[in-house]
This record gives sequence, C-alpha cells and structure tokens, in this order.
Amino acid sequence: MNFANYLDGAAAEAPTDLAVTDPNRDLTYEEFAAETDAFANALVDLGVDAGDRVALYLPNSTAFVTAYFGAMKRGAIPFPVNMRFEGPEVEYVLDDAGARMLVTVGQFEEHAASFETDALEHLVVAGGDRGHSFSSLVAEHAGPHEVHPRKNDELAELVYTSGTTGRPKGVKHTHGNLSANAHGLVNAMGWTSRETTLTVCPCFHVSGLNVTTTPFVVAGAENHFLPTWDVDTALSTIADREVTYVFLIPTMLIDVLNTGVEGYDLSALETVGVGGSPMPRERIEAAEELLGVELLEGYGMTETTPLAAINRPGQDVYKAGSIGPPALEVVDVRIEDPETREEVGIDEKGELMWHGDTITPGYYRMPEKNAEALVERPAPADRDAETWTWLRSGDIGRMDADGMLFVEDRIDDMIISGGENVYPREVEDAIYGVDGVEETAVVGVPDDRLGERVVAFLVGDVTGDEVAAGLRGTITDYKIPREFRVVDALPKTSTQKIDKVALRERYD
Ligand code: ATP
Repeated sequence: MNFANYLDGAAAEAPTDLAVTDPNRDLTYEEFAAETDAFANALVDLGVDAGDRVALYLPNSTAFVTAYFGAMKRGAIPFPVNMRFEGPEVEYVLDDAGARMLVTVGQFEEHAASFETDALEHLVVAGGDRGHSFSSLVAEHAGPHEVHPRKNDELAELVYTSGTTGRPKGVKHTHGNLSANAHGLVNAMGWTSRETTLTVCPCFHVSGLNVTTTPFVVAGAENHFLPTWDVDTALSTIADREVTYVFLIPTMLIDVLNTGVEGYDLSALETVGVGGSPMPRERIEAAEELLGVELLEGYGMTETTPLAAINRPGQDVYKAGSIGPPALEVVDVRIEDPETREEVGIDEKGELMWHGDTITPGYYRMPEKNAEALVERPAPADRDAETWTWLRSGDIGRMDADGMLFVEDRIDDMIISGGENVYPREVEDAIYGVDGVEETAVVGVPDDRLGERVVAFLVGDVTGDEVAAGLRGTITDYKIPREFRVVDALPKTSTQKIDKVALRERYD
C-alpha cells in the first residue's frame, strides 16, 4: 500500500490533533492531510506523473513534509537533496534522479534557479518570487486527492548517500521499506498517539526522515521540525512543545553536554535516541545523567531505511557500547568473516550483513554497485528459502551470547599495523577517557616498516604526551598511536560524521 495512506488514516482518526509544526506554522492532521492533497492535485495539474522524481531542496519544515507526502500521494518519487551539497553536486543528483520538479524556499531560490539539469521543468518556491509559488499552488488546488495506489515493492522515495566515498548513491526505498521501518520503530519504542517527536536532524538524511515519517503511523502523534541545529532552540522546543522523543546524532548530544540544560523544563522528555555514528560510552552515560532520561542507541544505514538494530525501553539487558539486538520484527543479521565469507561465532568479529523488510532493493541506476552490496548467502535454518539476498554493511561488528550487537568499526577504517588489526574506534574510546580531550579521530597512515601506523588527531586542551601517558595500561601497546596531532577542529561530513577520508588526505 502507498505509505502516504497512513497520513490519511491518522487524519480520519485524529483530525484536530496537532500533526506537524515548524517555527512559523502549526498544522493539525486535518489541515496537513488537506495541504498534501492539494499539493498532489497541483502535481497532476502540472503534468507530474506517478513515478516522476520530485526533488526537495528544503530545510526541515512543514513545507518539506507537505511536499514529501503530497508527492507520495501522487505516486511520484520524492527525494530530499542534501542542503550542504555544492552546486555541481546538487546538479549531479538532480540529473541522476532525472528530477522533473524541484521544491525549495525563498532563501535558496536564486541558487536553485541556477541549477542546470536536463529533466527539470518546474521550480516551486515557498515564500519566494520565482517559479510556482508553493502556497498559491496549494491554495488553488484545494480539494480531495485519491492516493495513487502503490504496492509494497514499488519505489516510494530515493535518499542519496552523502558521497564521502565517491559519487552520492541514490538508495531506493519502497513503500514496504518505509512501512516496515515505521512499524518496527513504533513497536520497538512502544509509541502511542501521545508521542511528541522533534525532528532536528536534517530530513535530507535517513536520521531525520526516520523521525519524520514514523509518527503518522500512530494517529495523533505530533512531529515538530527545526530547520537548523541550535542547541538552545532545540532545548526550548523540547520544553515548550513537551517533546517526548528526540533523535540526536552524537555531535548534537555533545553540544547538549557542553551547554547544559539549566533553565529548561525537560520533564516531558522520555527517551533520546542516538546513533548514526559511534558515541563514546562515557559521553552516553554523562548525557543520561544530565537529561535524566534513557538514552537508547540504535544503528542504521541509509540502505536499511534505517532500522536495523535498536535498544528498547525496558529491555532485559543493556550493554555498555552495544547498539542493541537486531530489530527482529524487520531484519535478520548475518556476521561473516570478511576474508573467508563464512559465518563467524559468538563474540567473533565479522562484517554485519542484513536481510529483511527495511533493506533497500538497491541503488538507483547503479547495477555494478548493487552487485557489490547485495549478495546471495545461505538463509538461516528453517526459513522460507535456501539462500537470501543480504546487504553488506561495510561495518565490522560482533554479537555476544545475549544477542547484543556491537559495531567495532568500518572495514575501510580498520588499520593493519605490523600485522595486527587495530580498530580505531577502540583507540578513540580509550582516548576519550583522558582528561582534556574534547574530540578525537584515529586513522592509519602509510608506514614503510609497519605497513600502516596509528595516528591520533586531537581537539582539546591536551598534549600528545599527556594522551600517550594516559593510554598506557588501558590498551595494548601496538594500539597506542605512534603520533598525535593537536588540531583546532576535525573535518566533518554533511551528516556531521568525522571525515576520515579528508583527515587521511590532510595528513599527506
Ligand atoms: P556514505 O555512504 O555517503 O559514505 P554513510 O556511510 O555515513 O555515508 P549512512 O547511511 O548515513 O551513510 O551511515 C551508515 C553508517 O553509519 C553505518 O554503516 C555505520 O558505519 C554508521 N553507524 C550508524 N549508526 C551507528 C552506531 N550506533 N554506532 C556506530 N556506527 C554507526
């Protein structure tokens, strides 16, 4: 079924409940459903067909979510464009997707009007002068829209990866992927209609989209949007809107730790989700203490829509540093030796591989990448088939005897120094335990004798000698970096992950 049907279902059940807000607008379910209908009608009028791609070059806002669900109701394929991309990168994804329409806001209209791509026919601008006016389109096309029927295996949206390791790839998500992800998350978190979520991670990334799409499968849940990350605005929104759940990436959580929460009434907040990249365990504990709520780490990728593993409220066991058990209602996990490709045992390290309802059917127009990422392997015993298609994650992980998963590192980041495998994340975790370290990243650089040597970049009021002294006795000798570099800041990707590719380049 078309995933947008959930929105109409929620609107029928809870018409006067608040559905979405941003700093400028509040929309009830009834109003929101009506605006998405009007936008879908406008697409029909402009000749945008089912299956056509509609680019959303929009900050988190009610306009984003209206255009997103409106396009989906039409049966068109919305795809968010990374707002941090430079012009040529935006043009690349617009061309790759063959976008027929681009929706933006006044602030970006000049930039958006300069994009040169072959397929683009319509520019829609909210609060601007060029192209079609978003609000006029909605006002002129008011009226019901019959949601375009879609099957679970049909394409619903594209989400482009950030392109840190080559060209951005358009990850396909089907209606079934979205629905499995939303139900899986609601189920794992135990959400009901009284949930109030805040989307502050950008919607051009799965971490933001995940929070954006999910509340609508629970009639009456509220979703508040903030366009940019500002720690004080986020905290005052949580207080004023009585937000019960927010998902933050580690960088945001560290900002909260540095700022403190004094003066904000966060008593409604029940759970904070964290994931997207590794979070040092001691920071998680410090954040739990500061916020007085449970911090639940989860793991996902764009390719897993993103639900793959998650810690749940009230779970039997929590393990420090674990991303939780696999989200078994939607996925199965296989962990295999990267060399022999055989399945590894309990507590043994291998590549995490995923199969299930949230797993992408592949990348848009990239058959060779699909052949690399999606591979045939045995299905677990007693299942419906001998073999399944599994997604290779590129992450090294392990499962313990309690079924809890741990991510060790990315395969590409692993360092082989003097024949020993060094997982930078383990070294980084140890470095975070040294006083004065604000941020760190450990990379391998070529070394004539060792093959690769371990180098640590440090941010903070600390010297390399102090860190080396602090590490002695905490991790094995060969894991202790041979060299430390204190820098002002670490390069970040558009999703605020430490950009190790740029770091290694900077070293040269
Ligand atoms: P690109 O594909 O453009 O290089 P990316 O790989 O960062 O970007 P995402 O889909 O955003 O794309 O990120 C998925 C990756 O994030 C996972 O493969 C994993 O390495 C990392 N990750 C996600 N959650 C966690 C977590 N809780 N702990 C450790 N790593 C995580």
